[in-house]
Amino acid sequence: MYDNFQKYLQKEIQQIKDDGLYKSERVIITPQSAAIKTKDEGDVLNFCANNYLGLADNKELIQAAKDAMDARGYGMSSVRFICGTGDLHKELEKRIAEFFGTEDTILYAACFDANGGVFEPLLGEQDAIISDALNHASIIDGVRLCKAKRFRYANADMADLEQQLIAAKDCRHRIICTDGVFSMDGNVAPIDKIYELANKYNALVMVDESHSAGVVGKTGRGTTEQYNLRGKVEILTGTLGKAFGGAVGGFTTGKKEIIEMLRQRSRPYLFSNSIPPMVAAAAIKTLDIITRDNKLQDTLHENTNYFVEKMKAAGFDIKPTQSAICAVMLYDAPLSQKFAAELSNEGIYVTGFYYPVVPKGQARIRVQVSAAHTHAQLDKCVEAFIKIGKKLGTLK
Ligand SMILES: *Cc1c(COP(=O)(O)O)cnc(C)c1O
Repeated sequence: MYDNFQKYLQKEIQQIKDDGLYKSERVIITPQSAAIKTKDEGDVLNFCANNYLGLADNKELIQAAKDAMDARGYGMSSVRFICGTGDLHKELEKRIAEFFGTEDTILYAACFDANGGVFEPLLGEQDAIISDALNHASIIDGVRLCKAKRFRYANADMADLEQQLIAAKDCRHRIICTDGVFSMDGNVAPIDKIYELANKYNALVMVDESHSAGVVGKTGRGTTEQYNLRGKVEILTGTLGKAFGGAVGGFTTGKKEIIEMLRQRSRPYLFSNSIPPMVAAAAIKTLDIITRDNKLQDTLHENTNYFVEKMKAAGFDIKPTQSAICAVMLYDAPLSQKFAAELSNEGIYVTGFYYPVVPKGQARIRVQVSAAHTHAQLDKCVEAFIKIGKKLGTLK
């Protein structure tokens, strides 16, 4: 039996390679950080991690994790409702709710699970989910798992959203769901306008804060801080795998009845192991660090402005960004790959994206700025971009 299937897979894999879509992985042999060492390329500056606040190798987090491992052991060996709930899990849930100004929080093994398990327990056939066209794959999968009717609107297009709300007006409940920051462009969803439309058409709002938590808003409390809507949006989801230390874990936070229902019915919560106590402890430490002062958030915002201004001054075409994601537009797919490879030779680790990850003719290099980057490292990145830009003819 396997012979046939093996041939089929080999052919499919070859097709992926022929299409230039085969993904390979670089092996890092140091902690995740601004400066890393990879097995094949040696020392590089990292501009493609979601390590926005530079906490992935933070000493206080590491110590908190070690202390928790000594005090609470390695793993929980259970889902939450059987015997997988520790005091650290409860404390982290409370702290996440405080951070976002919400009523309650439920933890998951990943934000992929939070999004996968948020719709199905809350909505049925009579309801409608109205989803931004550029939402993360995990939201798309979550929607697929739910029986509610599906409506889609063009990215951050409020006229289209209104049309979809009108189309869904006879449904029992409506929910608008959106990424807070769209990861390919770096734009923030217009939550203020979404919230207005939600009120006008009697809909709930769900925002995935994965790329915005710790980043967007003066103190990094995400899109609801940016738009003065703290505590108003019914559902926020997010990850512990990006700005919040970068390990693993996800959460849904929001109105208490919603969270209560998720604890009863959300399948990734009921049927998947709880996060290790050390991860909960380090996440609590993350919240300590980013709420005791605003240093990391300020540094991230300053670094992002510094980088974007320098790149624009050099003549690069940067998508307007309101996050720590800077899309350097090259438009041409092969050029984006060549450019990224040349940057790698200069010791700059970035990723080029092209169709189907971004629309056809919209190829780009995505740069992710971190509070951990020094100005010297940002300068080195800009200088490498200029050198390769001139070499490849994208800069005059
Ligand atoms: C990264 C990301 C996720 C997945 O988060 P994990 O915790 O790594 O599963 C979900 N949604 C968005 C918008 C993301 O960017």
